[in-house]
Amino acid sequence: MSKIRILPDALASQVAAGEVVERPAAVVRELVENSLDAGARHVEVHAQRGGCALLRIVDDGSGMGREDAMLCLERHATSKIRTKEDLAAITSFGFRGEALPSIASVSRFRLATREKDSLVGTEIEVNGGKLVAVRDHGGAPGTSIEARSLFFNVPARRKFLRAENTEFAHVEQQVRLHAIANPHVAFTLTHNGTLVLHLPATQDMLERIRGLVGDELSSRLLKVEEMTIRGVTVSGYIGGPGMSRSNRQMQTTYLNGRPIESASISYGLREGYHTALMKGQHPVTFLFIQMDPHAFDVNVHPAKKEVRFHDGNGVRDAIARSVSRTLENADRLPGGHAVAARPGPRPLPLSSPALPVAPAARQEELQMQVRPSSAPLKTMPPAPAVTLEPAARQAPPPAEVPVVASAPASAPAKPAASDAPSADDFRIMGVLQKLYVLMESREGLVMMDQHAAHERVNFEKFRRALESGGVPCQRLLISITLQTTPRDADLLKQNLEALTRLGIEIEPFGPNVFKVEALPAFLKTDDPAAWLDQVIEELGSLSTKTSSLRLSEDAIATTACRASVKSNDVLSVPELHALLKDLLACEMPYCCPHGRPTLVQISTAELERKFGRRAPG
Ligand code: ADP
Ligand code: MG
Repeated sequence: MSKIRILPDALASQVAAGEVVERPAAVVRELVENSLDAGARHVEVHAQRGGCALLRIVDDGSGMGREDAMLCLERHATSKIRTKEDLAAITSFGFRGEALPSIASVSRFRLATREKDSLVGTEIEVNGGKLVAVRDHGGAPGTSIEARSLFFNVPARRKFLRAENTEFAHVEQQVRLHAIANPHVAFTLTHNGTLVLHLPATQDMLERIRGLVGDELSSRLLKVEEMTIRGVTVSGYIGGPGMSRSNRQMQTTYLNGRPIESASISYGLREGYHTALMKGQHPVTFLFIQMDPHAFDVNVHPAKKEVRFHDGNGVRDAIARSVSRTLENADRLPGGHAVAARPGPRPLPLSSPALPVAPAARQEELQMQVRPSSAPLKTMPPAPAVTLEPAARQAPPPAEVPVVASAPASAPAKPAASDAPSADDFRIMGVLQKLYVLMESREGLVMMDQHAAHERVNFEKFRRALESGGVPCQRLLISITLQTTPRDADLLKQNLEALTRLGIEIEPFGPNVFKVEALPAFLKTDDPAAWLDQVIEELGSLSTKTSSLRLSEDAIATTACRASVKSNDVLSVPELHALLKDLLACEMPYCCPHGRPTLVQISTAELERKFGRRAPG
């Protein structure tokens, strides 16, 4: 007797449901997507007890006739694709025709729908996959779908449901995701009868984002001007340098309106932010990518959350470039005009790490003009601790143009740094804990992290040196022999070019052994071997897919900068002033190369509030 059996339809739907609807939020995703596909202008989502007891999604979309209303509960019944060619170029959210039968098979399900011009609509009740009733329905045009007691007939699934608040948080996240991409659609979300989100329709994307994240955060977002690179069009809003989150909740990315997660996109973001993002932190993004639907495949993930790009590198590159360009242009006012020269320093946001980026010459200009370098700092002595025989030597010239520099030249060139705060706008009052420089500005109290500031200044010096031919290195009297693991040996071999350009002269010296002959000139470390370990670790933390030459260089440079300054260096006021001046001349003065803030401001208004001289608010 054969052992293989065809599953009865109801059971097959339950199996499919396991993949499509793993929790209430997935039901919401599918139903909201159906409403959007149906052209709805208003979408209401009502949840009871995290969505486990009830989910009701009401829309004013096209509605369905009786025949379609019956058909849509069959598996693989869809109005959205017909042919293989349609599948290769999907423009709707749905296409598999499995959501409704899946949801109906694991809940007490009710569908009520009416087309705009029919007199009477249809109401259908399904209980755990079994059709219970079909009636006439006299409600408003559009569709209302209810799923009660989710997984009531699948105890194994029910066990995996989390606390109601957790489930509801996921439901809310789904609604937010779609609300951001569809500002022209009004959304309402209630939980246990309480209004949670009420978002009127608007033509303005930023207005919608503000409705979801609040004034404070949205006012600090930078607009990504739409640009198309290799068929990939990128636009949206992103957080400035230093604005980040410890999880990916605010890293939202869309492909042709569909919220998606993709490694290529994440790599592109990381590359675009490079040193403007703290390690382990994730950027805040509302980024929209438009592409020919033939150029990717959405049919690779049961929940359609992931896509496969035919040219993942192209996508990564487009994102990296548009993000880095946006960060570089970040000194512009929201209107897009450069700020006129002003007497005082630019107001910095209240005690916030996400300070605006000061103007800087564009990379292209940077490569041509030599910047006036200010007096050398005491913390960077001419002879590093590790060298005994200083010998100026130049690394080979650049082999690859950095990503940023290759951005289209159509980008408006920046005016001179007329609006940048100048070091003279700050009065240095003292240093706290040998680290925090306290300064008075017109706006209030400004604190500079001396160490972080140094790192930023050195990092940019380092990079300028790189761009003009290479970083001077110091030959070691006694070379260092490095014994590495095979994995680290691979990493070093892959990055030999970047290492040499950065003044680290290193060569293979037998299996998994390397000889180091020279190190960057400004390095300040007593333990070069330990420092090299850090470099290897930093290189290892880059994913192989992201390791463009520029990223490897940045990884090495950030490690080098950490070792270029020592904490607890006591600087004189003129030295601090010079440091501040150097910092403000940086391209990205408001965070260190690891993304930590360099300057923090407490405004006079905030001080007044703290001392009760001003009403809070
Ligand atoms: P898919 O979205 O993949 O086509 P679904 O099971 O989600 O599959 O829906 C099946 C079909 O039911 C859709 O193709 C659409 O024709 C119809 N439908 C579902 N929800 C709605 C709705 N809210 N308004 C109008 N039609 C809908
Ligand atoms: Mg669908």
